[in-house]
Amino acid sequence: MSEALAGQAAALDAADELAACRALFALDDDVVYLDGNSLGALPRHVPARMQDVIAREWGQLRIRSWEESGWWTAPERIGDRIAPLVGADRGTVVVGDSTSVNVFKALVGAVRLAGDDRDEILVDASTFPTDGYVAESAARMTGRRIRALAPQEIVGALGPRTAAVLVNHVDYRSGRLNDLPAMTAAIHAAGALAVWDLCHSAGALPVGVGAHGVDFAVGCTYKYLNGGPGSPAYLYVRGDHQARFDTPLPGWNSHEDPFGMRSAYAPGDGAVRGRVGTPDILSMLALESALDVWDGVSIDAVRAKSLALTDFFLECVEAYVPAGRVSSVTPAAHAERGSQVSLSCEKAGEVMRALIERGVVGDYRRPDVLRFGFTPLYVGFADAERAAGELAALLD
Ligand SMILES: *Cc1c(COP(=O)(O)O)cnc(C)c1O
Repeated sequence: MSEALAGQAAALDAADELAACRALFALDDDVVYLDGNSLGALPRHVPARMQDVIAREWGQLRIRSWEESGWWTAPERIGDRIAPLVGADRGTVVVGDSTSVNVFKALVGAVRLAGDDRDEILVDASTFPTDGYVAESAARMTGRRIRALAPQEIVGALGPRTAAVLVNHVDYRSGRLNDLPAMTAAIHAAGALAVWDLCHSAGALPVGVGAHGVDFAVGCTYKYLNGGPGSPAYLYVRGDHQARFDTPLPGWNSHEDPFGMRSAYAPGDGAVRGRVGTPDILSMLALESALDVWDGVSIDAVRAKSLALTDFFLECVEAYVPAGRVSSVTPAAHAERGSQVSLSCEKAGEVMRALIERGVVGDYRRPDVLRFGFTPLYVGFADAERAAGELAALLD
C-alpha cells in the first residue's frame, strides 16, 4: 500500500531478535495469523512428541507411565515451566483443569483466607464472562456479596468489608492492561486478597506475580502459551499462603497420601494442593512440549516487540484505512495496552469474515469489535502491514 511503510516493516523484521522463533511454528506463509490470543499456533515439534506419548508411553508402557514417564508429577513439573513466564517462584504453580475451575478454587480460597468479617467480593465488571459467573456462584456459596465494578473504580471501592478482588490483567475485548502492581498494593492496603486472571497476559508481557505479592492467579495455556485447544490451565498460590489454602475442591490428587485411599481428606503441601482429580495427560504433555519454544526467550524482549508491533499496526491502520471507518478501543498508552489491538467497526462480523477470506485471521467480538492478537514469537511487522492493507482494501 505504501512503500515507506512496507520498507519500514522489512527493516523492523530484519532487526527483530525474535524473528527466528517463527520457524518453530507450523504456519503458512500466505496467512497472517492474528488470533493467537484465542488459540496459539502449533509448534512444529509437538506432533512427534505426541506420537511418542501415545504410541510408546500409553501404547507400550501403559500403567507404568504414571511413574516411569512422569505422568503423575506432570502438573507440578509443568507448573514450574510456566512459573518463570509469570514471575512466580518454583513450587507455586500447578497445571490442571480449566481457567473457569481455577477461578473458583482461587476465589473461594482467597475468601476463606480473608476471614469471616469480610463479606464482599469485588469483580471487574468487564471481565471475561466465565469469571463473573463463577464469582457470583462463589459469593453465594460463601455467603458474601458480589459487587461488579469497572476496573478503574475498584481501588476506590476497597474497604474493611472487602474479602477478595478478581480482576482480568488484560481485558479480552478491548485489550486494556490493568495496573497489576498498583491495584494489588491497594487491595493489600485494604487488607484484602488479589486474584488475577492472566489469560491474556502470560506469554505476552511480564506479569511479576511474585514481585508484586499477588495472592492467587489463574490463566489458560492455549492462547499465548500455545498449549493446544483446551490445554489445561494453571493456578498460582503465593508461597506463604500455600499452607493455609483451603481448596473448595479437595480431590484425591491433592491428598497428602493419595494412594493411601483414606476416607478422611488431608491436604498435601505446596502447589499439589491445587490439584483435584486425574489430570488430562495427553493435553498436558502437549502443553509441556509446546513450552519448549520459550527456552532462551526473554519476556522483556517479547513485551518490547509486542508494543512495537501494535504501535506499527495502528500506524498502518491510520495511514491506510479511510478516515472514520474504524476506531481503536485499545488504549494508546503503552502502560495500558496488552498485546492485541481492538478496532470498533460497523458490520464488524462481516468485515472479519471477509478479512479471513483474504488470509488475515483475527476474530470478532460482539457487538462491533475486530480483534487482532499480536503474538511476538510468530507475528512480524510485514504481517502487521499486510493486515492493515487488507483491512483498508475491504473498507475502501
Ligand atoms: C480465555 C479466557 C478464559 C477461558 O476460560 P476457560 O475455562 O479456559 O474456558 C477465562 N478468563 C479469561 C479472562 C479469558 O481470557
